[in-house]
Amino acid sequence: MSDALKQKIQNAFQEPGCATNAAKPEAERKKGCAKQLTPGAAAGGCAFDGAMIALQPITDVAHVVHAPLACWGNGWDNRGSASSGSELYRKGFTTDLTELDIVMGNGEKKLYRAIREVIAQEDPAAVFVYATCVTALIGDDIGAVCKAAAERFGRPVIPVNVPGYVGSKNLGNKLGAEAMLDHVVGTMEPAEPGLTDINIIGDFNLSGELWQIKPLLDRLGIRILGSLSGDARYAQVAMMHRARVTMLVCSHAFIAIARKLQDRYGIPYFEGSFYGISDTSAALRTMCAMLVDRGAPPDLLDRCEALIADEEARTRAALAPLRPKVQGRRVLLYTGGHKTWSVVSALQELGVEVVGTSMRKATDGDRDRVVEIMGDDTHMFENMAPKEMYRMLREARADVLMSGGRSQFVALKARVPWIDVNQEKHEPYAGYAGMVELVRAIDREMNNPMWAELRAPAPWEGLAPDTPAAPVLLSAVPGSKADFEDC
Ligand code: SF4
Repeated sequence: MSDALKQKIQNAFQEPGCATNAAKPEAERKKGCAKQLTPGAAAGGCAFDGAMIALQPITDVAHVVHAPLACWGNGWDNRGSASSGSELYRKGFTTDLTELDIVMGNGEKKLYRAIREVIAQEDPAAVFVYATCVTALIGDDIGAVCKAAAERFGRPVIPVNVPGYVGSKNLGNKLGAEAMLDHVVGTMEPAEPGLTDINIIGDFNLSGELWQIKPLLDRLGIRILGSLSGDARYAQVAMMHRARVTMLVCSHAFIAIARKLQDRYGIPYFEGSFYGISDTSAALRTMCAMLVDRGAPPDLLDRCEALIADEEARTRAALAPLRPKVQGRRVLLYTGGHKTWSVVSALQELGVEVVGTSMRKATDGDRDRVVEIMGDDTHMFENMAPKEMYRMLREARADVLMSGGRSQFVALKARVPWIDVNQEKHEPYAGYAGMVELVRAIDREMNNPMWAELRAPAPWEGLAPDTPAAPVLLSAVPGSKADFEDC
């Protein structure tokens, strides 16, 4: 690993904006905030994967992975970030290095040719080149290749030097975003900078969640000038330095970027969430107050209050018929980071009982918020083994599991409904409109009559062992042989 990369990693672990980090003793801090991967246990993703998913939602960029085929094959399109324009970001480009390329030292030449080809074929706004374990270990200098290609082809070609072996996916998120600060932010100027321009950092427009927020901002005359990286264009990253305020949606990985934008360009930031009615209103209020502090017209505050009153009333009216269907039901929440508190708060607004919430990837700030919302920490847990989760669900201590895809089969085995609230989900749950969608999803899953049938004993259960099974009439089974025999 190069000295520059080592230094970058150390700096990521020394982030002064991170309260968790700052509270650690010096020796602890050097070890970093994520557990090191053990061989064979990289299911959570490597650092390259982290950098990739942080930046891939930048839609008009060609993302070129300099690696043997498998790196991109493992990581391609693993997050449902939506685009309102270019679909280029969803195409997979890789140099597909072979053993022969590696032995013959062809890596850098192949990369240069790949950049030339992708620019000729796709005309991207920029090319991002990702280093991976193999190409970093053989010493390919992607920085030099990117520089030469950018000069030759007159297009930004950005090195993202975060090979998988340097650490966890979370570290990769941070280093990927750092690459934007090093090479992209500040390289373009907006045609008309405005007093109500903002950056949104840490939202990835999963299933189109940003589009549930954008109409609210449009009504207030607030423009998303910079985005990292939901539905972002390259230019939006390049112009982030001209925003007036930054909203940090997921503090864990990107706090250093927000803090550095503040230090370098004087852009203040705040941490907020768009999950739940009260959190959405709080985020809008904070955003408007900070914009007014920085010179936006003071009437923005009144317009913000009017919008909040209007949206809250509309949302509560939409939720009224749904509330009795979910009120008093119990949810086990197995997610991470800021969602631990933002989803808890959203559910509690509806009278849903949260019987447990995981604190995986949560910061001390996240923990404090959960304690504040839930009253104490008795329902917080770090990690729950699938066996324990299965037991809890089977004993009906929760009516529904809300988690990421990896736990869905535990719920289904326990015959308990499951709702996807992680990055792979297919439905957007942000803002006021998202809250209504979330409650609809809970109602749809929990009150589906299928569950009663599924939990009822099978016809043969409880019969004496020597009772002959009732014959199944083939004609009663749709699509059975009997059906075809009649044809
Ligand atoms: S970068 Fe390394 S750890 Fe990540 S997918 Fe490629 S080979 Fe595996």
